[in-house]
Amino acid sequence: MLDCIFCKIINKEIPGDILYEDNDMMAFKDVNPQAPVHFLVVPKKHIENIMALSEGDYELLEKIFKRINLLAKELGIADNGFRIVNNCNQDGGQTVMHLHFHVLGGRFMQWPPG
Ligand code: IMP
Repeated sequence: MLDCIFCKIINKEIPGDILYEDNDMMAFKDVNPQAPVHFLVVPKKHIENIMALSEGDYELLEKIFKRINLLAKELGIADNGFRIVNNCNQDGGQTVMHLHFHVLGGRFMQWPPG
């Protein structure tokens, strides 16, 4: 997708602080971290958000959640816990229209979110 900032990171057109990459997904640090550990996991395929998933895309979610499990252990946030956030569309506060899962950890998370 031409004007998508996450596609540009995936295609290495702009730099990203990459934690993990395979054929299906990339994980990179959020440029504006909201917690001591804050990274994003994105499918390489440009999918706008959860509502734009097609039937064949759901296996991607399984892979992404498995990878979040492994990255949480690697980054030392698994034991104390962490939060996974997906913002969808305007009311959900989505600002980048490429499906992504925030993973935040390293501090206590308040509830409810704003
Ligand atoms: P959203 O509000 O759920 O769409 O989250 C978008 C996230 O992308 C925000 O937390 C931004 O800080 C983050 N972000 C935007 N541009 C970049 C970038 O170039 N690199 C890493 N993170 C970014």
